Amino acid sequence: MEKGILFVVSAPAGCGKDTILNELFKRTDKAGYAVSATTRAPREGEINGVHYHFLTREDFSEKIKNGEVLEYTEYCGNFYGTLKKSVDELILSGKDAVLKIEVEGAMNIKKMFPEACLVFILPPSLEILEKRLRGRGTETEEKICERTLQAKNELDYAKNYDYLVVNDDLNDAVEDVLAVFRAEKLRRERCIGLIEKVCGDLN
Ligand code: ADP
Ligand code: 5GP
Repeated sequence: MEKGILFVVSAPAGCGKDTILNELFKRTDKAGYAVSATTRAPREGEINGVHYHFLTREDFSEKIKNGEVLEYTEYCGNFYGTLKKSVDELILSGKDAVLKIEVEGAMNIKKMFPEACLVFILPPSLEILEKRLRGRGTETEEKICERTLQAKNELDYAKNYDYLVVNDDLNDAVEDVLAVFRAEKLRRERCIGLIEKVCGDLN
């Protein structure tokens, strides 16, 4: 079976990663979400094993020690890490794996897997970004300030990504990410075998 593609989707907090990906997974079953591990507390409505594997710091360290974590980072006081098992399960079953991770993790994944495709979600403006973060109502004022500051640092990494998508109109943004996913599947390097399959041996 052909292995799935590794997609990394990043964006500063409040840009709309969750909103876009939730909608995207309703529109395609070719890609799945690679569930990360975190030491942060679940937000209202978040389910263990679906949104994250919520771990204690001890359990998180244990997973690192056992080589179960591909990459990890500390973000606003909590640890987040990509679990090898989450990625392998998807890719080996032929599905594309979507990692929703921050910028340094994304750069590490690209180093480990140069064939990974990196997508960065931009907000229409910094003012709208802050408004959306406040509007979500999941963070304290202190956390909002911390995340807004972090957002400005993260936006600087956008230039290292393969694709940039602006999340202005939600439907357009979802369709843009889906278009990237489709285009990547057709990249020559990924489907070089097609030529021989269609044309036979041309020599
Ligand atoms: P992230 O996962 O990047 O932190 P969210 O998906 O939680 O961001 O989005 C932050 C807030 O912005 C949420 O309240 C969400 O409903 C809102 N939002 C996301 N995309 C849009 C959009 N295109 N237009 C208006 N509001 C949006
Ligand atoms: P949140 O607390 O909003 O769910 O996530 C905070 C940040 O951590 C987001 O930018 C999110 O993409 C990132 N993140 C989530 N999982 C991982 C992971 O496994 N590795 C890395 N490096 N970042 C992650």
